[in-house]
Amino acid sequence: MPRIPKRIRLLLLVAILLVGGFLSTSIASYVVSRDALRDGLIGSALPLTGDNIYSEIQKDMLRPVFISSQMAHDTFVRDWLLAGEQDPTQLTRFLQEVKHKNGTYSSFLVSAKTLRYYYGGGILKSVAPDDQRDAWFFRVANMPQEFETNVDPDLANRDKMTIFINYKIFDYAGQFIGVTGVGITLDSMRHLLQNYEARFQRRVYFVDQAGQVMLTGDTQQTRASILQQAGISQVAAKILNHQTEPIAVTYSLNDQLILLNTRFIPELGWYLIVEQNETADLRPVQRMFQFNLLISALVTLLVLCIAMYSINRSQRYLETLARTDGLTRLLNRRAFEVVLTQKLSELSRRPRPVSGILVDIDYFKQVNDQFGHTTGDAVLQQVAQLLRASARAGDTVARWGGEEFVILLDDCPKAQALELAERLRLKVAHFDFALPDSFRVTVSLGVVELQPGETEIEFFQRADQLLYAAKSSGRNCVMADV
Ligand code: GH3
Ligand code: MG
Ligand code: MG
Repeated sequence: MPRIPKRIRLLLLVAILLVGGFLSTSIASYVVSRDALRDGLIGSALPLTGDNIYSEIQKDMLRPVFISSQMAHDTFVRDWLLAGEQDPTQLTRFLQEVKHKNGTYSSFLVSAKTLRYYYGGGILKSVAPDDQRDAWFFRVANMPQEFETNVDPDLANRDKMTIFINYKIFDYAGQFIGVTGVGITLDSMRHLLQNYEARFQRRVYFVDQAGQVMLTGDTQQTRASILQQAGISQVAAKILNHQTEPIAVTYSLNDQLILLNTRFIPELGWYLIVEQNETADLRPVQRMFQFNLLISALVTLLVLCIAMYSINRSQRYLETLARTDGLTRLLNRRAFEVVLTQKLSELSRRPRPVSGILVDIDYFKQVNDQFGHTTGDAVLQQVAQLLRASARAGDTVARWGGEEFVILLDDCPKAQALELAERLRLKVAHFDFALPDSFRVTVSLGVVELQPGETEIEFFQRADQLLYAAKSSGRNCVMADV
């Protein structure tokens, strides 16, 4: 496995820590919000909607059931039936009274003996066992309960879908003698559902005991049995359980999770179903999650950029520090050797004249001995400054050792280097170092031009020999090979 540089490893670690930290907090907060939302929906919002609708329905249904019960127990009604249904106008007047007194309800009575169907307008028809539309009467006649609610089109009211309260009438000996009751149109209940759907953004509807959808707020909604509808058919058996206590179930449809609350409403004989699409409800939470991730990614990126910048900067600083001589701020010997090696390899690709000047301060020991090391240091700094100021931009000036300096002149033949060396010598000799006793600082210089195929060592040896020759010939002079 290739070794990963330390710098990259550090950045990777920072990135992993940030991404890991951000991801775990974002995911945790998403899960907590989602669960809180789901618990809120299942635990309170959906049951509350169900409760509200249920109590509204009870309120709406209680009154007609009560009225129907009154009608069935009315002694006039029973006496009139037992007396042989003599004068129909007496009964129709009674039915009209009930209807008017209670507003929009229709009222009816069917005699078990004559099978006549009476309503406010008189005799509507006779019910017949083989007529599908009259099947309800024969069912009620045989059912054990005292009354039922049933939804049918109302013949007496332009076939409008109507909830009928079918209340059995008994004679004083407990014999079944007819059915009476009132009807209320479904429209009022549909409005109730629409109202709830609009207010809570939920689907509210009724299914009968066979699972058939009976009443919806949304008229577009399918009327198919929930046993046959995709998704909800998975839980239909759980819904159709006759429990009046609300139960919560969930099912999925087209990758969406639907939360459902249902209960059986005995007054209607129907199930009330309240549904909410949790996936749709979760969208804001998901958007928040995505936003969190985006912010996290940006912060991670920003931190990585800052970290990378700081690491690079400190690395550059350390590199500069390692290359520089502390006293003179020139390149140190090690750095110079790197430059020279580079230059030599460059030369083999693009041959050109390169020269070097070795500079040594004359009698520098005396400066130290006479004026102290601090003054010696100051002289070294000033000489370095003079050398740097005289060199061209592309030249390399370095402190070679103690009081020796070296200048590498790229693209510079020996003759030109010699001129520069001479200029340098004069510059130093004429510079006022402000030393006591008019002590003059001078330098000796050796100038060489790099020869083809020459090594660095050979190059320096030649320069050193020339410098030695300059010293020997009285110092403060320049020597170059011929
Ligand atoms: P020559 O003319 O033959 O070059 O004589 P010189 O005295 O200059 O040569 P020598 O090599 O005898 O002495 C060099 C001195 O430079 C000795 C050393 O203490 C001193 N030196 C080297 N580095 C430093 C430095 O960083 N600061 C100071 N103040 N002195 C230094
Ligand atoms: Mg020396
Ligand atoms: Mg010297």
